[in-house]
Amino acid sequence: MSFEEPTATNPKRLLLLVTASSYRTGAFTEVARSSGIEVAHGIDMPEALATYYNVPLALDFAETESSVAKIVAAAEATPFDAILSVDDSASLLAAEASVALGLPHNAPAAAEAARNKHRMREMLEAGGVPVPRYRKIAAEADFAALAGEVEYPVVVKPLMLSGSRGVIRADNAEEFVAAAERLRMLLQRMGGAGDGQAILIEEYLPGGEVALEGLLTEGELQVLALFDKPDPLEGPFFEETIYVTPSRLARELQEAIARRTSEAAEALGLRTGPVHAELRFNERGVWLIEMAGRSIGGLCGSILEFGTDTCLEEVVVRHAVGLPLPDLTPKEGAAGVMMIPIPRRGMLRGVTGVEEAEQVPHVTGVEITAPLHYPIVPLPEGESYLGFIFARAATPDEVEQALREAHARLAFEIEDEIPVLPVLR
Ligand code: ADP
Ligand code: CA
Repeated sequence: MSFEEPTATNPKRLLLLVTASSYRTGAFTEVARSSGIEVAHGIDMPEALATYYNVPLALDFAETESSVAKIVAAAEATPFDAILSVDDSASLLAAEASVALGLPHNAPAAAEAARNKHRMREMLEAGGVPVPRYRKIAAEADFAALAGEVEYPVVVKPLMLSGSRGVIRADNAEEFVAAAERLRMLLQRMGGAGDGQAILIEEYLPGGEVALEGLLTEGELQVLALFDKPDPLEGPFFEETIYVTPSRLARELQEAIARRTSEAAEALGLRTGPVHAELRFNERGVWLIEMAGRSIGGLCGSILEFGTDTCLEEVVVRHAVGLPLPDLTPKEGAAGVMMIPIPRRGMLRGVTGVEEAEQVPHVTGVEITAPLHYPIVPLPEGESYLGFIFARAATPDEVEQALREAHARLAFEIEDEIPVLPVLR
């Protein structure tokens, strides 16, 4: 495919919706500009601060209506070719503003489904996509009374959290009551409202799990990468660790996974742009766990490279504004990432072995992201990782082995949390 650069007289314009904590803003802005795209930022920021810092387009992502109006007004001065939310916080706003401006975008309902797991199950079911048995209950429900009605095993999960937070497997009534109570306490501490306080009970789907990174163009799915998750994810908590691509699964299964993803996208109203889906497979077929109209999160996107040194963000921004796409053939060989799990609760006091881990053949980077001298909390209550290990090699097996070897060389010094007087908690 030829790579036409936009002419200086008529460059494409992209509005990026960002928050102060969107760590991918820099990457998106840079790749857009190097593709000749003009970038404007819509920033989630209180009005007073925006005036002080002279921010041209300050928005309140929680206030969709007024933010859409501000974006429409900004577009009157200089029209946008696309609006992109760099993370989930503005995906609904990006969709609504695109509707208002007549720009190609996914249905706003798809953004809502991506942030509400019960809504997602309903939309998938309505679209004819197989779903596990599911049921929404209130966090105040009588779990002991419900326990007898449930067919085990199940997972309980929050509707509106992410990163496997609060997702707990239960194999019997006793475990169910304990899991639901644990989740109820977590939700109370988080303090959300409405569905933010509800619990989804889902049939536990056994089997392997993969993540699919794709690109939709007018509803047509192109698979950019399929990641195997080689560590068993059998619960009771579902900590993600290793992602390796290309997948080692049989071709027919990979095709079935892509088909299921495509059907799910259609059911959710996703038609354009990046998608990230998680699926399970077993002898009953391929199942969608969840799907969002965005590219892979975390630092994980950095392991994907296409053609001649093209990164995922570049593909996403060029696609958004309708510029010709670069070569999307995955870079030769295999790549992977390990999200370093938090082994136990406590204060992270020290990390050793980073250099030794970096020296493992095929390891391309080790990044410890958890700050020292801060408390760390494992799943199901916790929400982050200690860091990431990246690897690239000729085959997926070598990548997986390198990641495990590097992880084994790391040691984390975790001190028991000092007991605090209840009044200080
Ligand atoms: P989150 O948005 O927090 O990532 P998910 O619904 O994706 O929540 O669940 C996190 C993980 O829990 C999944 O990747 C999967 O391993 C496991 N899981 C979730 N739902 C089920 C299910 N119905 N059956 C088996 N495992 C599940
Ligand atoms: Ca998930």
